[in-house]
Amino acid sequence: MKELSVISGKGGTGKTSLVASFAALSNNAVLADCDVDAADLHLVLAPQVRREEPFSGGRRAAVIAGACTACGKCEEVCRFDAVRRGGPPNRLVEETFRIDPLACEGCGVCEWFCEDDAIDFQPVVNGRVFLSHTRYGPMVHAALGVAEENSGKLVSRVRTLARELAECEHRDLIILDGSPGIGCPVIASVTGADLVLIVTEPTTSGLHDLERVAQLTGFFNIPTVACINKWDINPGLADDIERRAARMQVRVVGRVRYDHAVTAAQIMKSCVVEYTGSAISQEIRELWRNMIYELERRSENSN
Ligand code: SF4
Ligand code: SF4
Repeated sequence: MKELSVISGKGGTGKTSLVASFAALSNNAVLADCDVDAADLHLVLAPQVRREEPFSGGRRAAVIAGACTACGKCEEVCRFDAVRRGGPPNRLVEETFRIDPLACEGCGVCEWFCEDDAIDFQPVVNGRVFLSHTRYGPMVHAALGVAEENSGKLVSRVRTLARELAECEHRDLIILDGSPGIGCPVIASVTGADLVLIVTEPTTSGLHDLERVAQLTGFFNIPTVACINKWDINPGLADDIERRAARMQVRVVGRVRYDHAVTAAQIMKSCVVEYTGSAISQEIRELWRNMIYELERRSENSN
């Protein structure tokens, strides 16, 4: 089983639109939407949920009002200013303390220092993970709760379930729609992948983002290729990106033109290769073939 992770330096490069087309072109893949902070692959693939599970990425503290002696130790030690006065009275004091759940980072320090065992420190549900069916095969995706964090852990959970599903259904490829950027969620999206595709665009920030992401995958020694989306909006910069990528040992395996068909396909809840057979569709197909070639070539070399 191979894992192909598609990432970008920032959102809005057209990464998910390409992943949706890859889903249509693959024969036997499991799809995994690891862009959990802004999941949108489901908008095109319209998954039908078959199973879902709660996700807990951490704990959160709460004051047990009946046991609080209002000593104030928790307020003193909390580095996130999450502890407030103004909790309900009890038989000992007229005002206890309380914890703002949105400010609590779940570090557990207050529980450690509370000598009256008046802090409840329980796992919290941060989101949900879904196993679904799409017209192109099974898909694992997730929804992170509002203002919730720990998306790196949630990405890892999505990947674990995608691997289990691939093994169970004898599917030989997992296509990951990775998180953008270079933070924890993107690291969780690429570690252990057999190939990473960086989607970039011919803008100055696109060039900069490609370098940052390629440095990240280079640091983790993950085989990496790139594609330039909307290359024709600035052909000169697209050439610069290709040269810069080559210097970083990153082969550009495809260029995809700007085309209104991308937006039109999204409106129709369709992917580009499904929506049109025009030039952009041919470029995405060629990109897909080149990527599969790279995936197989690199696996043969590593065996
Ligand atoms: S440390 Fe414990 S007893 Fe003291 S104020 Fe905080 S919750 Fe109450
Ligand atoms: S768990 Fe950490 S962040 Fe949350 S209230 Fe306690 S000390 Fe503050």
